[in-house]
Amino acid sequence: MTEKSLFEDIKQSLQAQNWEDEDIKQVEKAFLFAEKLHEGQYRISEEPYIIHPVEVAKILVNLKVDSHTLIAAFLHDILEDTDTKPEEIKELFGDDVLNLVQGVTKLGKLQFKSNEERQAENFRRLFIAMANDIRVIFLKLADRLHNMRTLNFMAANKQQKIARETLDIFAPLANRLGIGKVKAELEDLSLRYLEPDKYFEIAQLVSQTKAEREMTVNLLIEKISQDVQKNGINAQITGRAKHYYSIYSKMKRLNIAFHDLYDITAVRVIVDSEKECYEVLGLIHSQFKPIPGRFKDYIAMPKGNMYQSLHTSVIGPRSKPLEVQIRTWEMHEIAEYGVAAHWRYKEKGSQKANNPADVQFSWMRKMVEYEQDITNAEDYVNSVKLDLFSDQVFAFTPNGDVLDLPINATPVDFAYRIHSDVGHRTVGALVNGRIAQLYTKLNNGDIVEILTSKTQAPRLDWLNFVVTKQASSKIKQWFKKNNREDHIEVGKANLEHELTKAVFDEYLKSGEFDKIAKVMNYQTAEDLFAALGYGETTLNKIVNKLKKPEKKPLEQNFHVHSRKKSEKDIIGLEGLLYSFARCCSPIPGEPIVGVVTRSKGVSVHRIDCKTLENVPPERLMDISWAGGTTSKTYSTTIRVETAEKMGLLKDIIAAVSDNNTNINYANVKSKNNKIGIIELGIELNNIETLKKVITSIQSIPDVYSVKRIQTSASHSSQPRKPQQQKGRYPKSKPRKN
Ligand code: MN
Repeated sequence: MTEKSLFEDIKQSLQAQNWEDEDIKQVEKAFLFAEKLHEGQYRISEEPYIIHPVEVAKILVNLKVDSHTLIAAFLHDILEDTDTKPEEIKELFGDDVLNLVQGVTKLGKLQFKSNEERQAENFRRLFIAMANDIRVIFLKLADRLHNMRTLNFMAANKQQKIARETLDIFAPLANRLGIGKVKAELEDLSLRYLEPDKYFEIAQLVSQTKAEREMTVNLLIEKISQDVQKNGINAQITGRAKHYYSIYSKMKRLNIAFHDLYDITAVRVIVDSEKECYEVLGLIHSQFKPIPGRFKDYIAMPKGNMYQSLHTSVIGPRSKPLEVQIRTWEMHEIAEYGVAAHWRYKEKGSQKANNPADVQFSWMRKMVEYEQDITNAEDYVNSVKLDLFSDQVFAFTPNGDVLDLPINATPVDFAYRIHSDVGHRTVGALVNGRIAQLYTKLNNGDIVEILTSKTQAPRLDWLNFVVTKQASSKIKQWFKKNNREDHIEVGKANLEHELTKAVFDEYLKSGEFDKIAKVMNYQTAEDLFAALGYGETTLNKIVNKLKKPEKKPLEQNFHVHSRKKSEKDIIGLEGLLYSFARCCSPIPGEPIVGVVTRSKGVSVHRIDCKTLENVPPERLMDISWAGGTTSKTYSTTIRVETAEKMGLLKDIIAAVSDNNTNINYANVKSKNNKIGIIELGIELNNIETLKKVITSIQSIPDVYSVKRIQTSASHSSQPRKPQQQKGRYPKSKPRKN
């Protein structure tokens, strides 16, 4: 056989599939290019190397892939095994082909080492996540299938390893994509190397029972073919043994011998329409007794990989139990070729149907385009689209375990995922063998080694970049336990702020806090303060338990609203020092963000605060208000533009007070003697109240506009009362009165 004839088969198949001559020429060009490059290279089988890409291409021709995938099939090993530069591929065949070749090359470097069953799924996900393009997976599956077909030339230990990987990773991937044909062959070939005795035993038994199987099927056809015809149904009925691996796994699962398996034979009935599937089912059930509990309607409820069929088991001719699968031709194509087949059928009804080549080979490109357009992309696209795992990243431990982490995960997240002790002691990380910063974002396939030291402790700034709940809560927990003195100070300061210093001291002296500590299951008052400091309990829980003081504590008398009982906390800051930013004065209910400061803990800003523009993203923390009402008040400033009219200020103040809101200060000035500008500092408990206040003011005649403003000094030329800091936490030192 001359080498030229290696392409002849493929050429004929492509012509039979109505490919354009131009496309066939491009594919041939790739073949000739690869042939030259692999010249003088041989496989272990001593065949010329080019045989391998040719066989891979043939598998893909059967799967009816597009021309770029086929070109990439010929080129898939040249980056790894020859001196070809990526630029050459790009120049000769374009970007798309280069991406495919690089995709396959990249996946080829991944090695599945772990023996743990649960790791396999993560590895498969990693594979899909790294492939970027579904065609890369098709290429990789075809590559693996041919390697499995020629595995007998490999050393025995390699056979085992490759077969195991195929069974754990590649066969399930083929299944996920619905390519039943490839899946079955990969499984059978794996079984042959992993359990050769079982494999050959089953193969022999299947061939021994072939005659019997055919007889049973013929009897079944005889029994129902008349009924089928009478109903005007065109049906193809075949019966064959299931593939070896499925027989093997059933024997293993049920722990029974081959001869006790009653459904070795699958009878397959293929008809033209879905309606006929159910009609045939009825006809079969009227002739043969169905076995209870064995009917499955995968037409009404397709499998995740789009597989559709009716399955039933019946007591067949000669009292032999038989499994029957009933499906349409379209369903059959999908069962064998997966997504590819499905797309082709989708396209058939469209106006493009006159151009079969276009129709048949455009599906993959389409699928990538359609990913952008969710409304058009149907569920089958969802089931295979490659951003399936785009919110995850998969990284290896040095032992080969794959850890799945959220996107943007860092070595610190990775360390805490291994164990919290590893996390706490992290001093550094090697990513792919190189020292990496702890805030480095991990990529798919990274091998991460955590460097630890017994004396290392977690650092607060890790909270700026960790993305897993596990890591952040472990870090916070550590600080809870280990920063007791600070927490006590914070807890005390909060109580002083709430009760006033004098009242707090009075309670402290009288031993009231010790009593409450006991009631709340803490040992001492200090334990209670610490718990408050790190957020385990709240101010209100404590304040509600205090006995009423003899003298009423000095209540700020301009608080006209009633104080509510529960405390509003901030989610994401539990146990951390924080304060509210003066620049934007956030109010409960509106979106906020934390900024980690060097010395003052976390500063809480409104998410639209202008000062955030200059803050590097790694210093920002995701935080939000907890639900529930609050007893706290928060300051903000609003600016009202009015017609210059006497009496308007009174109306505005009334509108504010009607909403149970205090006014801190008011500043009135006028612009051009035409417009009055009133700035009001108000105290309120949440954003809803603010909205109500603004609405009420707006409804006053002669009010032009009401706006909340950022409280920078430039807004007012007159001195005014400084805004009161309402955060529960003092800035750096507890306050002194
Ligand atoms: Mn290969």
